[in-house]
Amino acid sequence: MSTIAALEWKNILDRVRAMHPSLVRGWFSGLKPIDLSGGVLRIRAGNPKQVRYLDDECGSVFAEASQQVLEQLVTTTFETDAPDEIADDDGYPLSISENNQLQLNDDYVFDHFVVGAGNRLAHAASVAVAENPGQTYNPLFIHGDVGLGKTHLLQAICHTTKQLGTCPTTLYISCETFVNHFIEAVERGAMNQFRFHYRHVDLLVIDDIQFLGARERSQEEFFHTFNTLHQAQKQIVLSADCQPSEIPTLENRLVSRFNSGLVMSIDAPCMETRVAILRKKSRLRCIEVPEDVIEYVAINVHTNIRDLEGALLRLDAISQTTGGKIDMELARRALADGSERLAITIQQIIDVVTRYFGVRVKDLQSKKRPKSISHPRQICMYLAREFTSHSLEEVGGYFGGRDHSTVLHADRTIKKMLETDAKVRRTVENLRATLRTQQNGAS
Ligand code: ADP
Ligand code: MG
Repeated sequence: MSTIAALEWKNILDRVRAMHPSLVRGWFSGLKPIDLSGGVLRIRAGNPKQVRYLDDECGSVFAEASQQVLEQLVTTTFETDAPDEIADDDGYPLSISENNQLQLNDDYVFDHFVVGAGNRLAHAASVAVAENPGQTYNPLFIHGDVGLGKTHLLQAICHTTKQLGTCPTTLYISCETFVNHFIEAVERGAMNQFRFHYRHVDLLVIDDIQFLGARERSQEEFFHTFNTLHQAQKQIVLSADCQPSEIPTLENRLVSRFNSGLVMSIDAPCMETRVAILRKKSRLRCIEVPEDVIEYVAINVHTNIRDLEGALLRLDAISQTTGGKIDMELARRALADGSERLAITIQQIIDVVTRYFGVRVKDLQSKKRPKSISHPRQICMYLAREFTSHSLEEVGGYFGGRDHSTVLHADRTIKKMLETDAKVRRTVENLRATLRTQQNGAS
């Protein structure tokens, strides 16, 4: 970390005054450079209003002048020491609060995580980070396909630091939450509060950071958040469905920041790990499963661990409703039912959904975004994920060439709605029932 010389700062201010006289305010002489590090020049202003003005009007102006004087690529950030006045000052309390954090699942602890060839390194790195936040790998970036344990590891880190009391201020959020807060903060002119919230944490954990790819302005903001925390040796942990360089439209500077720590992949579990996971999960859930059934499930379900868990729960549900024990016969039946994944086509899903909502296929495949179109489109995508084995790309391609992150987003949106919105739950249940009935009629 270094700061810039008084003369350089004076030259920067002079250039700003010369190039953009209409933007200059008397209080500019009170601005102070704090430090220059990693291409970021941090500038301190006297109060939150000044920071807001600088952010809104002068970001590129100061960056441009700094680049000319310092002869290097520089971005600028503005901050103040007086964050507490902000909410009153703005009159816009942002809805950033503890409640916006994702809930930690009590089961997602290291003790419940089965270590195998596919996740050994990611697990070891997560334990190291949890035990010494900010001191080992920073950022820690974990990537892998869905259902392989990224969220589990992220939460295990949070659980551990909570237990050890090493990170009094922890933020565990989804990328969407960050983006939504940012948009809300911009709209309400509450950027100071936003920044204070995100830049004063000991541990920042963001799940599914790939969603940042599609958000240009949020990327810019996240870049500065990242730098501030990183410089202060605060731990950052991120997860994504692919490695940093593969996140579509993620700025290079973010890719390189993410790569500057430790990037770890999680791969699909091997047979031994699948067996070990099934044993552990059945024990944790007090489900009695004989060894031959465990092996049978492990052989037949190899997509990911979420599906493995799903199969176990299906066995349990069937045995409870039929009153029978879990045995090979029941397992064969249960897994055969699962083959409906392959039997229902996207076209059938579209037919059923368009009829239900009274929309046209053309609309679903168009770029139209009103809720009356986007909601059925998202439901189609969700059902395609549930009933077919098409990849995210294939599903996206089917709906007017949308990319995989749009499909993932749709899937998550509907899943969230299913938890909170009874009407959506009923709709999806109706659609599922119609699809199954059609299917049974056809076979
Ligand atoms: P991702 O975030 O990668 O999509 P999750 O972390 O949500 O995946 O994992 C899906 C499910 O699989 C969770 O219930 C999680 O507890 C379980 N799981 C994943 N990996 C393991 C593992 N190695 N040991 C035990 N359970 C696991
Ligand atoms: Mg996850």
